[in-house]
Amino acid sequence: MRAGYHPQIERASQKKDTSLKKQGFYHTTAWRRVRLLALQRDNYLCQECLRKKKITPATEVHHVLELEDHPELGLELDNLTSLCWQCHEDTKRRPRVVLPDRINIIRIRDGSETEGWTNAD
Ligand SMILES: [Zn+2]
Repeated sequence: MRAGYHPQIERASQKKDTSLKKQGFYHTTAWRRVRLLALQRDNYLCQECLRKKKITPATEVHHVLELEDHPELGLELDNLTSLCWQCHEDTKRRPRVVLPDRINIIRIRDGSETEGWTNAD
């Protein structure tokens, strides 16, 4: 089981924070404007909860295709969806890079992934 631990993957996942996010994308006027447009379009409701027939106010705007992978879609309204805090946290737990199982699978199996647990980033 220990064989699944790859230090180089951890380094790679830390690296993603040094790009667009760190460059202040989320503080730009352009982002704030398009973020507001997304919320208005979605009636300030969490779209993920809505799909489950739940009405939850949206507090986050999420990039469907991640900013890191598709910086050109960063301000594309079609690439944005309004989410509540919890649903937004859930999107972060579906990592594109497969992390060592001891981090992922165990959490998912005991059901504690809904309790506000976050990745080390
Ligand atoms: Zn939600």
